[in-house]
Amino acid sequence: MTNCIFCRIVSGQIPSKRVHEDAEVVAFEDANPAAPTHILVVPRRHLATLDDSSDADAGLLGRLVVVARQIAAKRDLAGGYRLVMNVHAGAGQSVFHVHLHVLGGRTFGWPPG
Ligand code: 5GP
Ligand code: ZN
Repeated sequence: MTNCIFCRIVSGQIPSKRVHEDAEVVAFEDANPAAPTHILVVPRRHLATLDDSSDADAGLLGRLVVVARQIAAKRDLAGGYRLVMNVHAGAGQSVFHVHLHVLGGRTFGWPPG
């Protein structure tokens, strides 16, 4: 998907501040952070939304959460952090390549806006 911004970040065509990469998953700093820590954890494989994944992707989707937990530990976010996945435009998804937001370093309200 050459027209997908996160595929281009994964391939290195667009620069990013990477904080993690492995065979399946890449994580990088959000360009427009909504909290002192704001990292995006993405699968290397293009999936437009969570609803484009299947039950067979359980391992890959689980890896997103595991990497998020590792990032939270490295960033010392034990005081509280939030994982967010916006699914479809109505929920605020603006980049259509699955990503998990890792947000921390401030307090968060509930319910989210
Ligand atoms: P969404 O609204 O789809 O849940 O989240 C998309 C996120 O991607 C936003 O927080 C936005 O700031 C971030 N973003 C959009 N374009 C870029 C980019 O080119 N580089 C990086 N690092 N983040 C981006
Ligand atoms: Zn993509």
